[in-house]
Amino acid sequence: MSEQQHDYGVTGGGPVMAIFAHPDDPEFVAGGTLARWAAAGRQLIYVLITDGSKGSSDPTIATEALIETRQQEQRDAARALGCEDVVFLPYEDAMLEPTIAVRRDLVREIRRYRPEIVVCFDPTVFWVGDSYIQHPDHRASGEAALAAIFPAARDRLTFPELLAEGLEPHNVDDIYLASPANPNRWIDISATIERKVAAMARHRSQVADPEATARLLRAFAREAGQARGLDYAEAFRFISFNNMRGSADEDVER
Ligand SMILES: [Zn+2]
Repeated sequence: MSEQQHDYGVTGGGPVMAIFAHPDDPEFVAGGTLARWAAAGRQLIYVLITDGSKGSSDPTIATEALIETRQQEQRDAARALGCEDVVFLPYEDAMLEPTIAVRRDLVREIRRYRPEIVVCFDPTVFWVGDSYIQHPDHRASGEAALAAIFPAARDRLTFPELLAEGLEPHNVDDIYLASPANPNRWIDISATIERKVAAMARHRSQVADPEATARLLRAFAREAGQARGLDYAEAFRFISFNNMRGSADEDVER
């Protein structure tokens, strides 16, 4: 296997949009890859669908304060990976469903920023191995993102109110499903694993023990890379509309 095969996306130039449910999701599952793409000159845009208002064991913190903290931490973490554009949608944490309203809000951002690549959760995953249940918001965010990409974002007649806002249809080329059930593409993050670790540490309200989290992230990335002969990797399910158009990327790993 050539070096080249793990350099997907680093030579292209289009924007990359990371659509996730919660503050810390983008760093946790795709931070090394996003950092590589940003370093290659791609514009990174984050869209966080929920307000990050849950998942705290601090009995003294008020919801409004928690939302503000989580959003600031997310902006800091995004900046650490090279992302200046962070959009927060106002859906309640832990209550996310893939509704038409969520779909419309995602189509708005896709048409506004016009990404070439979208990274989001694999919506088919209910559990991981024998030790983790996928957060229902993660599934819902992935389902909403895919429905926004196809057919809604590209169809002129869907959500005419967005057209009225001046947002023209947009075709996303490539999709990378993170935390996938069946990965078919591995990105070498050996050069960016420490940036991922550093970005993750910015989520202070969620990372009680940064050293333990760092060890966990390195262990996950080592495990993902193992089968492909890489020191550190992130695994994805890769889907490309270019494949359908017949100009298939020959290096796609099946
Ligand atoms: Zn999450």
